[in-house]
Amino acid sequence: MNEIILIKNGELALKGLNRKTFEEVLAKNIRKAVAPVGDVKVWRAQSTMYVTPLDDTDIEEAAERIAKVFGIAALSRAAEVPKDMDTILPAVCEYLCDELEEAKTFKVNAKRADKKFPLKSPDICAAAGEYILEKFPHLTVDVHEPDVTVTIEIRDTAAYIHKQPIRGAGGLPVGTGGRACVMISGGIDSPVASWMMAKRGLELSAVNFASPPYTSKRAEDKVKDLLGKVSEWSGEIRLHIVPFTEIQEAIRDYCPEDMLTVIMRRYMIKIAQIIARRDNALALISGESVGQVASQTLRALECTDAAADMPILRPVIGMDKEEIVSIARRIDTFDISILPFEDCCTVFTPKHPKTKPILDKIVQAEKALESEEINVAAMIEKAVANTEVFTITPEK
Ligand code: ATP
Ligand code: MG
Repeated sequence: MNEIILIKNGELALKGLNRKTFEEVLAKNIRKAVAPVGDVKVWRAQSTMYVTPLDDTDIEEAAERIAKVFGIAALSRAAEVPKDMDTILPAVCEYLCDELEEAKTFKVNAKRADKKFPLKSPDICAAAGEYILEKFPHLTVDVHEPDVTVTIEIRDTAAYIHKQPIRGAGGLPVGTGGRACVMISGGIDSPVASWMMAKRGLELSAVNFASPPYTSKRAEDKVKDLLGKVSEWSGEIRLHIVPFTEIQEAIRDYCPEDMLTVIMRRYMIKIAQIIARRDNALALISGESVGQVASQTLRALECTDAAADMPILRPVIGMDKEEIVSIARRIDTFDISILPFEDCCTVFTPKHPKTKPILDKIVQAEKALESEEINVAAMIEKAVANTEVFTITPEK
């Protein structure tokens, strides 16, 4: 029996004239996601996308990968059979045999997109219901909460048989919204923020600030592992690791202690923007959430925003830690995030950071770094020049 995957693409349906472009990007992303395990043909008919495995591509592995492609509301593995009831009915019992054996209750759902098919939907349901009850006499029909919903779709191309669809990744196809550059730390929040923006159709670049010898090679590897997980959903991510030690030490040595964190964050933003622009990214992404730590009060955010002249997207801004953690678990980054390696944000942390920094005073304090002698501008140039670039792709 031929097996294919039927795709329902939710929000995409709303995109009017752009719909074709969105679907083309989605088709390309589906092929890319499946590429490591095989080849598929992606095609469209009667407002549904179809994925046909080519050669001996494993459909289960393909479906698992497609479930992580953004822009898909739901997907179903389906048997594809000729459009006559004498073939369809035995095929239903054969294809869904395991599920029907295990279930206590079922219902049949018929969709007749091919209006030339001689039986109407209720007739298809009745015929299939009767046939199934005969073959699986332990079953009863329950139209409200069935254990199995048998769906029979009669389409122009063929008849398709499947059980209830599985949830897709939702969102919009990556690549339809331009590119943004995520400021990635080894924490819980920024990988979640990356995933959330990829879900809205953005391609990702990433920047991480490292302060060796205060931070270790293992902290760098942790960031790569985190992005590896995110890339299973977002596709390839270009990661830039910026050597930040010299700038951080200068801030520590020449700025007031209680302003260190905010000033450091402002320099991160300034450098991240230079890198973002080189990667053609139009925005930064950060994992900040109001009130979570001293640098995430509104006053502190005002100070970091003032260092930026591109938008900073903060998708977790209104979320509780628990809500962020539940996404981190879903995308499998949580266990990596809680590994204990030091991030550059946690070295030189002041004992009593200002929770309500005043922008004017911060800007004034930064002047100490701008003298000819210290020349932070030259340090920034050097940090950018010595940035290492890596391409992160899914591990498997
Ligand atoms: P996370 O869990 O993402 O580390 P956090 O709660 O620890 O966040 P902070 O350390 O204040 O918060 O960092 C806030 C945001 O700043 C992070 O979500 C991330 O976007 C960015 N950031 C922090 N440290 C770094 C770093 N070393 N390199 C790049 N960006 C960073
Ligand atoms: Mg952090």
